[in-house]
Amino acid sequence: MEIKVLKNVMIKNNSIGADNRAFFREKAVLAVNLVSSPGAGKTTLLESTIDKMRSKYKVAVIEGDLYTSRDAERLEKFNIQIVQINTEGGCHLDARMVSGAIKEINIDDVDVLFIENVGNLVCPASFDLGEAKRILIYSIAEGADKPQKYSTMFKTADVVLINKVDLSTACRVDVDHVEKEIRSINDKALVLRTTAVDPHSLREWMMWLEGEIERSKKSKD
Ligand code: MG
Ligand code: ZN
Repeated sequence: MEIKVLKNVMIKNNSIGADNRAFFREKAVLAVNLVSSPGAGKTTLLESTIDKMRSKYKVAVIEGDLYTSRDAERLEKFNIQIVQINTEGGCHLDARMVSGAIKEINIDDVDVLFIENVGNLVCPASFDLGEAKRILIYSIAEGADKPQKYSTMFKTADVVLINKVDLSTACRVDVDHVEKEIRSINDKALVLRTTAVDPHSLREWMMWLEGEIERSKKSKD
């Protein structure tokens, strides 16, 4: 019985997610879903990324969080459209929440929409929000065994950013080994090494992102 209920929830979510995706495509907006454990660096990555790109592209953010709006407050300095979703204890965003948040955004004034998911390496993997790309930020401080232990998350990512690589010595993690593990789980994902607080480490990430934004803009013409 319970399995049937869960199945219905997922069917409903996928259908709303498909509507969101069609909407983003029609509006030529690149929607990016940022997933990770708590503390891996999603908001820091957003700060560095938005700072680099906001003179060139129009950015909006949907912030997912259990109870607070702390991450949204960190991004207020950029003067961009931000919508906060508080899940009131819920451990992931779903497509319906995102659909509601979109209505609060002037989407005609957006090139790229970042959706910061709730920090959780488990169920966000199963909920399609309608994003074009899913970015997994994995901090090496979480330990080298996490790609295998949370493989669903790694399997469903389009990009994996191995973050906080500057801490690899202190954390006694071999980044080459971690990268090999990730590639053995998902050989299609783009895997990059970053230190989100250091903008210089984000060059490849920014190049990829700008390429995707341009692609989604062109698809409208
Ligand atoms: Mg955050
Ligand atoms: Zn959840």
